[in-house]
Amino acid sequence: MTIAIVGAGLGGLALARVLHVHGIGAVVHERESSRDARGQGGMLDIHSGQRALREAGLIDRFFAIARGEGQDMRLLEPDGTLLFQEDTPGDAPLDRPEVDRADLRNLLLDSLPDNTVRWGRAFTSASTDEGLLHFADGSSASYDLLVGADGARSRVRALLTDARPVHIGQNVVELGIPDIDRTHPDLAAMLGRGNYWVLGDGVSLAAQRNGDGRVRIGISFYGTAEDWFATSGIPFDDPAAARARLIDLLPGWDPRFTALIAACDDTIVARSISTLPAGLTWPSTPGVTLLGDAAHLMPPVGEGANMALLDGALLGLALAAHPDDFPAAVEEYEREMFARSSAAARMSARMQDLLTSPDAARKMLAFFQG
Ligand SMILES: Cc1cc2nc3c(=O)[nH]c(=O)nc-3n(C[C@H](O)[C@H](O)[C@H](O)COP(=O)(O)OP(=O)(O)OC[C@H]3O[C@@H](n4cnc5c(N)ncnc54)[C@H](O)[C@@H]3O)c2cc1C
Repeated sequence: MTIAIVGAGLGGLALARVLHVHGIGAVVHERESSRDARGQGGMLDIHSGQRALREAGLIDRFFAIARGEGQDMRLLEPDGTLLFQEDTPGDAPLDRPEVDRADLRNLLLDSLPDNTVRWGRAFTSASTDEGLLHFADGSSASYDLLVGADGARSRVRALLTDARPVHIGQNVVELGIPDIDRTHPDLAAMLGRGNYWVLGDGVSLAAQRNGDGRVRIGISFYGTAEDWFATSGIPFDDPAAARARLIDLLPGWDPRFTALIAACDDTIVARSISTLPAGLTWPSTPGVTLLGDAAHLMPPVGEGANMALLDGALLGLALAAHPDDFPAAVEEYEREMFARSSAAARMSARMQDLLTSPDAARKMLAFFQG
């Protein structure tokens, strides 16, 4: 029986690893040409997903690469008022440590037998009657169970549901300051070791220190349309002018915050945020299922990677419990996943409402203190 997983993200790899721990083989088809083909982005805070790493037998190695001090939090208002500061003591439990996404993905990749991941295989379609997957390079592969772990823009999803991600009125510009301790020690001291959040009305700035000394900065514009980047006047092809325009878009913000933008290098990414409907389900279909963002794309408030890891591990456990009955395993997995991910999606939507509401900073303060 061949288990084919499309997508070597956190969810797909967690599934392959838990299956391997239980002596079950799987093949992961990944469209990227190698593990380093694309930057993996910044830090993730891993909380509920720690259970998945335990089931994968990787929790000690995870704690070795996790950053406890990354849990530090500072919350400010645009005029520079510091509302909240929490520094993590050295002996604090690692409840929500931050980990570099690339390090976590490498941990999972290195835990799999050679040739589990087939790189450069972009899934295009499946012939479900024949149990065949088709790839962009013209090749195909057979499967008995197909698991779509292919992220937000999943192509496997269409085999199970017509639901598509819908823009939620948030557009994010991502920038960064490389090697901040050496290049801008004053800004490094201001930001601290973990998360630094400035919440204004309709705009937020989130800065976060990464393992390699780079600080990643995301400026979110809420209540903006899907085509906002085209009308924002931000010239993405001219990074210096783009930084200047971003500073113009933050009138009245304390000069220390706009100094952060001015100190960024020329890597600028525009990210439009979409989600699937909270509580999405589909009738269980033998032979195909989904996990992670493919199944339940949520606002980016710290749940998605945790859910993807858990999905992968719990599907792996269900398959290990029913090795001769994949449909029963998929049904059992989906029942639990639908309930768990619906609750997480509703919680994420409430957090998103808070971030986009008037006086967001004070409301977030009350949330932290509560
Ligand atoms: C800026 C940002 C910050 C975030 N921070 C956090 C955080 O702190 N905590 C948290 O829990 N979550 C966070 N998230 C959410 C989290 O990143 C995602 O929910 C998580 O990565 C989903 O994992 P996944 O395995 O489902 O999909 P992905 O990680 O997206 O992996 C999908 C994989 O499938 C591959 N693929 C796609 N299409 C195909 C195809 N046709 N054929 C073959 N392969 C394909 C892709 O190349 C990729 O490798 C954040 C998201 C963003 C955007």
